[in-house]
Amino acid sequence: MSARQSLARRVFSALAEGTADPPGVTRAAYGPSEQAAHDLARHEAEALGCEIAIDPAGNLLMTLPGSDRRAQRLLLGSHLDSVPHGGNYDGAAGVVAGLALIAEARARGFMPPRDVTVVAFRAEEAAWFPLSYLGSEAALGRLAAALLETPRSDTGQSLAEHMRAAGFDPEGVARGEALLRPDDIGAFVEVHIEQGPVLVGADLPLGLVTAINGGFRYMQARAVGAWDHSGATPRRHRQDAVLGLTDLVTGLEAAWDRIEAAGQAVTLTFGQVATDPALHGGSRVAGEVAFSLDVRGADAGVLDELRRDCARLRDEIAETRGVVIDFGPEFTWPVARMTPALIARLEACAQTAGIPILRMPSGAGHDAAVMAGAGIASAMLFVRNAEGSHNPDEAMDLDDFAAAVSVLWQFLNTWP
Ligand SMILES: [Zn+2]
Repeated sequence: MSARQSLARRVFSALAEGTADPPGVTRAAYGPSEQAAHDLARHEAEALGCEIAIDPAGNLLMTLPGSDRRAQRLLLGSHLDSVPHGGNYDGAAGVVAGLALIAEARARGFMPPRDVTVVAFRAEEAAWFPLSYLGSEAALGRLAAALLETPRSDTGQSLAEHMRAAGFDPEGVARGEALLRPDDIGAFVEVHIEQGPVLVGADLPLGLVTAINGGFRYMQARAVGAWDHSGATPRRHRQDAVLGLTDLVTGLEAAWDRIEAAGQAVTLTFGQVATDPALHGGSRVAGEVAFSLDVRGADAGVLDELRRDCARLRDEIAETRGVVIDFGPEFTWPVARMTPALIARLEACAQTAGIPILRMPSGAGHDAAVMAGAGIASAMLFVRNAEGSHNPDEAMDLDDFAAAVSVLWQFLNTWP
């Protein structure tokens, strides 16, 4: 077995064991299990002779020195947190791919022309703090200080409190102190499992991401009507919050049809829908429904169109049902285009390595969006993965993972 394969097997199984939370794994952002994953990566990197650095937010940088230490570095990596009861590969695959590349270089006695740094970002999954990319934003010194007060969804403690408890320096984060500087980075390549069925359907091991979808999300939206007796209140007197929300759902699905008919792709998801358990009942007209709405797409104009649809439907529902749709705070993130020259080079590397690869957009968000947003040449390699992601059944074949590392190896060997 090659150096990279044995490292990958060892690290993936140690991660699965060390952060097990049946079913699946749980690596809460700034929790002990995320730290265990960081410790494991650090231990492997130290054994490979890497230089270790940790920034004020706790992001871990593991560097294999190159022959020209002042040349722009190759940055690889991803995040090590997971959703609750998630799969072993989401995020971790990108960090392990970087370490596997370094293991391969060491085994072959290859000194790269420039530094190769593997980064393990903190807190990428919005399951913990209801914002994505906190770790990678902080890694560039770009995290807005106000976001340090964001409470973690399970503990209610702020991001700053969690950072401090884990031994890091939120004040340094607030001051924008960072170890990664865009000018020092020649390219960022994030290996990540595909979280949808596209590569499995196409029967291809790897994807090359062209753009990461942007979007907007309402996490604290409400439909507010009036509580009433289910038998005693005639229809015309009702302000049924469930029916108001239903109008919004069907209205937005009609908009989705219109957008698809025009040849554009978006996703709309009402992930959380709940009447108030303290007040609802089988014989009660619901006065309030809390819901979330997540809208994503690769075209900013189409996203704006859907925002206007939301406003139009809100006004119509107030008029026809007497139900107030309050979307609450809006969280938005922009479309992130990957760098065309880097995509072309990785495509050529895959071709040289004899590995078929598919250009595709990413519906899910990734740290590479932050890197691209900071002006760093960025690309993503997707690895085929059955059973989706954010669940314990993620199924990445280690041969497909090895194919991604082969593309990186080719890339490193042909990098000027
Ligand atoms: Zn991920």
